Amino acid sequence: MASHGVLENSPNAAINKAVIGRLMELPLPPNKVLATYVWIDGTGENLRAKSRTLDFIPKAVSDLPEWNYDGSSTYQSEGSNSDTYLRPVAMYRDPFRGGENKLVLCDTYKYNKKPTETNRRAACAAAMEAAKEHVPWFGIEQEYTLLDMDGRPFGWPKNGFPGPQGPYYCGVGANKVYARDIVEAHYRACLYAGINISGENAEVMPSQWEFQVGPCEGISAGDELWMARFLLHRVAEEYGIVVTLDPKPMPGDWNGAGAHCNFSTKSMRADNGILEIEKAIDKLSKQHLRHIQAYDPHGGKDNERRLTGRHETSSIHDFSAGVANRGASVRIPRAVAEEKKGYLEDRRPSSNCDPYAVTEALVRTCVLE
Ligand code: ADP
Ligand code: MN
Ligand code: MN
Ligand code: MN
Ligand code: MN
Repeated sequence: MASHGVLENSPNAAINKAVIGRLMELPLPPNKVLATYVWIDGTGENLRAKSRTLDFIPKAVSDLPEWNYDGSSTYQSEGSNSDTYLRPVAMYRDPFRGGENKLVLCDTYKYNKKPTETNRRAACAAAMEAAKEHVPWFGIEQEYTLLDMDGRPFGWPKNGFPGPQGPYYCGVGANKVYARDIVEAHYRACLYAGINISGENAEVMPSQWEFQVGPCEGISAGDELWMARFLLHRVAEEYGIVVTLDPKPMPGDWNGAGAHCNFSTKSMRADNGILEIEKAIDKLSKQHLRHIQAYDPHGGKDNERRLTGRHETSSIHDFSAGVANRGASVRIPRAVAEEKKGYLEDRRPSSNCDPYAVTEALVRTCVLE
């Protein structure tokens, strides 16, 4: 039986970048634009992308043509009926190609024009439309882990472990944080693209990092987070480093990775909005299981490894809430409690969650009931 070989080192990292650097400076013919269409594949976690030349400069997403791809190669259809449609839903500037070149986020439709199984955006968009008078905002904290090609966290000793957690969170220094270049490049790339990235920090486990997107209104939260993930994988590719969104990449006494979702409505942000926040928490407490099912791509299975009640998490089995409590399912930030308005933080979503599923669940439970 053939076995999968494990590469010690990335072929990408070994490539000399001088020639591509020169070629990328060559001007394109006038009115030629390269558009990279990006979509979620049949895993519901991984992204795919392919490029095409446009002979006009698109000004709005509605200028962009629909396209298609071979869904049988992305776990999204049978080979005998494999054309799957790409519908452009959001357009960003392309930080890799610069100029007028674009990144195009798409959602996916089957041969019969029904959303594919992993197209969670269609239902999310409907919920956001129904809730729009409440002006829902989301800020998502995306935690992630950098890996070597062999699957071990980047920079970790090959035959042992780094020292215990403590010095790494928001750390500075060569023995505290690894691959800050990726974090920095990703931050710039997101800002250039037009993504509302609001910050970054090194996390508790070495080679684990976080960035935040938001606050974003409605469906744009999911759109921007997905494109920010694409940019992260794409930047790390250049360095020969792998990004994993696995919620517990290292078993044992190492923190897992989540995607805390900060959520507010217009009335929560208004004076005395704390009353609305408390009402929302009460509704959430009655739908715990439903939310756990929506908060990772395997119906709660992935989060089982992470939500243990240890390592700054709550137990997956119980709902809890509290002010400034990092061991609760839902936390009211201290400043929100003091100002009596603002937002709540749902700490349950897994790092590999689909933000469309998470934001839809929050809006359906808290706003649409
Ligand atoms: P933490 O203290 O949990 O680490 P972060 O600073 O990492 O918090 O992230 C907080 C997130 O909350 C940011 O993405 C921010 O944009 C978002 N946020 C701030 N105010 C609101 C609000 N009113 N509604 C929704 N999200 C908000
Ligand atoms: Mn072909
Ligand atoms: Mn954070
Ligand atoms: Mn964090
Ligand atoms: Mn948080």
